[in-house]
Amino acid sequence: MQLYQEYLKPQTIAEAVDFLTSAKGSTAIVSGGTDLLLDIKQGRHDPVDQMIDVSGIKEMGQISLEDDFIYLGAAMTHKQIIKAPLLQEHARCVVEGCGLIGGPQVRNVATIGGNVSHALPAGDGTISLLVLDTEVEIASPEGAAWQPLIEIFAGPGKVNFDRANNLVTGFRFKSKGEGEGSAFHRVMRPQGVAIAILNMAAWVKLDESGNLDKVRVSCGPAGPKPFRAVKTEAYLSGKTWSDSVLQEASKILAEEVSLRTSKHRATKEYRHQLLPVLLRKVMDTAIERARL
Ligand SMILES: Cc1cc2nc3c(=O)[nH]c(=O)nc-3n(C[C@H](O)[C@H](O)[C@H](O)COP(=O)(O)OP(=O)(O)OC[C@H]3O[C@@H](n4cnc5c(N)ncnc54)[C@H](O)[C@@H]3O)c2cc1C
Repeated sequence: MQLYQEYLKPQTIAEAVDFLTSAKGSTAIVSGGTDLLLDIKQGRHDPVDQMIDVSGIKEMGQISLEDDFIYLGAAMTHKQIIKAPLLQEHARCVVEGCGLIGGPQVRNVATIGGNVSHALPAGDGTISLLVLDTEVEIASPEGAAWQPLIEIFAGPGKVNFDRANNLVTGFRFKSKGEGEGSAFHRVMRPQGVAIAILNMAAWVKLDESGNLDKVRVSCGPAGPKPFRAVKTEAYLSGKTWSDSVLQEASKILAEEVSLRTSKHRATKEYRHQLLPVLLRKVMDTAIERARL
C-alpha cells in the first residue's frame, strides 16, 4: 500500500506553510508518524499526495524559558521532553504524561505536537498540558497566532484549525511560581497500549497558609474532547485539602465528566470508581510538590 506520493521535508516553518498552501493534492503533516502512518495503514485516514515531515524544523525542536514563559516546540519528542531539565523543574505533569506514552521506541519518535494534533480526548501529553493553561501556536499563510489550547479541539480526532493550511508549531505556559506544583497519573489495562482507561492531571497554587489558592484539573477520556473540570476547579479553589473536600470534589467531578463504557478498556461504572482515586493521587502529589 502506498501511504503517500511525495515526501517533503521542510527546514523552516515558513517553508512548511508554503508546502501546505501550494500543494496540488491532499496533504498531511507528519511528525513521528506513530498515529498517522497506522491510521493510513488501517484505513482510518486516506493515503495522501504529499506528506510534509516537520520533524527537522529547528524552531519546532526547542525548549526555552523567556519572560516567565516556557516555550515548547511541537516537534519535541516525548523522550526529549522527559529528559529536559526545564520541564522537570517547571512542568512535572508534562514530564509524567509524556513519560508514560507508549514504550521507548514510540517515545523516541512520537512528538507532543502529534499527540495534541491527533485530538484524542485522552492523549496523555494533551491532558497534562491542559492544566498548565497552555497556549498553542498555529502557523498559517497569514502568520503565527497564539490561542488557548483547550479551544482547538472540536471532537474526537477533530480540530478547529484548518489542517490543509495550518500547522501547530509550539506551546507556551507560565513557568512554575512559588507554592505551585503539578502532577499526572493514569490507569491503564495491564496489556494496554495507547489509550488510558482514565488519565488525570492537576495543577495547584497554595496560599501562604498552605491552602488551595487556585486549582486546575483535567482528565480523559471524559467526553468527546480533552476536558478541563472547571466546576471541580472552582469548588477546590480556596479550600483546605482534606478527605471531606476530596469527597465533595469527586462528586462534582463525577457530575461534570461524561464517561462511557468502551469494549476494549473499561465500563463507565469502573471509570467512575477511578475518579476519586486519581483525583486524590494527582492532588496529593501536586500539593506535595508545591510545598517544596
Ligand atoms: C504502540 C503505541 C503506543 C501508544 N501509546 C500512547 C499512550 O500511551 N498515550 C498517548 O497519548 N498516545 C499513545 N500513542 C499514540 C501516539 O504515539 C501519540 O499520540 C504521539 O504523541 C503522536 O505523535 P506523532 O509525532 O507520532 O504524531 P503523527 O502520527 O506524526 O501525527 C498525528 C496527527 O497529528 C497531525 N500532526 C502531527 N504533527 C502536527 C503538527 N505539528 N501540526 C499539525 N498537525 C500535526 C498529523 O497530521 C496526524 O493527524 C501510542 C501509539 C502507538 C503506536
